[in-house]
Amino acid sequence: MTVHRLWLGTSGGLVLVSAVSLAIGWIVGQPAMCLVAGLFLFAFAQVRLLAWIERWVESGFQREPDSAFGLGSILAARVRRAFRKFRSREHQLELLVGRFREAADAVPEGLVALDEHGRILWCNAGAEQLLELQASDIGQPLGNIVRDPDLLAYVRAGDLSNPLVVSQPGHGQPLLSIRIVPYGAGQQLLIAEDVTRLQRLEHTRRQFVSNVSHELRTPLTVLTGYLETMSESSAMARGRWAKPIRQMIAQTSRMQEIVKDLLLLSRLETDAPADLDQVVAVPGMLAAIREDANALSGEKQHHIELDSDNQLWLSGSESELRSAFSNIVFNAVRYTPAGGRIRLQWAASEHGAQFSVEDDGAGIPRSHLDRLTERFYRVDSGRSRQAGGTGLGLAIVKHVLIRHGGRLEIRSEQGRGSTFVCHFSADRIVHPARVRGPAPPAATTG
Ligand code: ADP
Repeated sequence: MTVHRLWLGTSGGLVLVSAVSLAIGWIVGQPAMCLVAGLFLFAFAQVRLLAWIERWVESGFQREPDSAFGLGSILAARVRRAFRKFRSREHQLELLVGRFREAADAVPEGLVALDEHGRILWCNAGAEQLLELQASDIGQPLGNIVRDPDLLAYVRAGDLSNPLVVSQPGHGQPLLSIRIVPYGAGQQLLIAEDVTRLQRLEHTRRQFVSNVSHELRTPLTVLTGYLETMSESSAMARGRWAKPIRQMIAQTSRMQEIVKDLLLLSRLETDAPADLDQVVAVPGMLAAIREDANALSGEKQHHIELDSDNQLWLSGSESELRSAFSNIVFNAVRYTPAGGRIRLQWAASEHGAQFSVEDDGAGIPRSHLDRLTERFYRVDSGRSRQAGGTGLGLAIVKHVLIRHGGRLEIRSEQGRGSTFVCHFSADRIVHPARVRGPAPPAATTG
């Protein structure tokens, strides 16, 4: 509307100046000269108007237009209105940003927004405190400020599946859990949380479980000893105590198994991964496990096949790997009905090597699959106890694999059987030909 008025005003002014100049020129007998002079004056007025606009813009629209007349006053009113609108929006935006900052600073976690090149866009008060960042660090690459190599590798990898626990840069305390959340176009939000208390609690829990398990070992051994002596005494073995003694022996040996597994699990959780560089001749180990599985199967007469690649060994902890592999093989025997087929396979895979145990047993409903590796998680606790399970087997398998940089995959369908696969990365593979010492065992095929 105002633009329209401006246009009309300018062209109207031009017509008026030309008409008046021509009229005066006609009177004085110099129409051309007068028209040129009029147009010159008109152009001069326009240039002055432009100069005035420039000064006004340069003053940040602060200085009131002193020579705003005609077109200038129309323009000034228009600009002033737009500027007021802009200032009010800017004010609202400042309020919003202020409120957002207050909310972000109230969050106890440290929040750091990183751009697509890993430079710090902003951070909250929590990040200033936990990661020791300062306002002056904004715009700098995170790698220039935080030197922890684990943290930097984690941020670069952008792995969102598991948080990283690191010590506070430069101090060692508190312990921080770091998570990365991607957002926008290539930006990342780094969330740092103080988990010292949680870690201490977790440590106390592990110590407690480990101590209780240790303390239970001796009384259980004494109890088992007495019960065995009683069962061997012919009078008691035949009398009315025979059944209770048998049941007590069964229960104490179950408790011993649980204590053994609990101790192993707490060792896997608390001990620093050590001795993970033994050369493990997996094919030989699997052949022995198959023998044990046949013995466990006993009258159930499962068909246990073993197909293993003799040229594939691993570097790792022999006892831990034996424990993990036995657990999944013995589970297959326990949870597969008599006469069922169990197939063990040790072979190279796309990413390294894998040990898979496939059975045609009862299978596991899909809803349970994610929780199977939790301690004492059972699909059917009655059946597990009956089968002699402690409820800790798959938790042990998971921890052993984590320590070896591997992972456990579970595929199962109810009524169709299950497949448990232990995946190992290529850097764990050892080729027997490169190892000095005993020759690899002969190929074992079931
Ligand atoms: P448990 O000592 O009870 O066997 P695990 O941790 O080894 O404990 O296994 C957890 C649960 O997973 C078991 O209770 C069982 O219900 C289920 N499970 C494990 N392996 C199999 C299998 N091969 N077939 C069917 N169910 C299985």
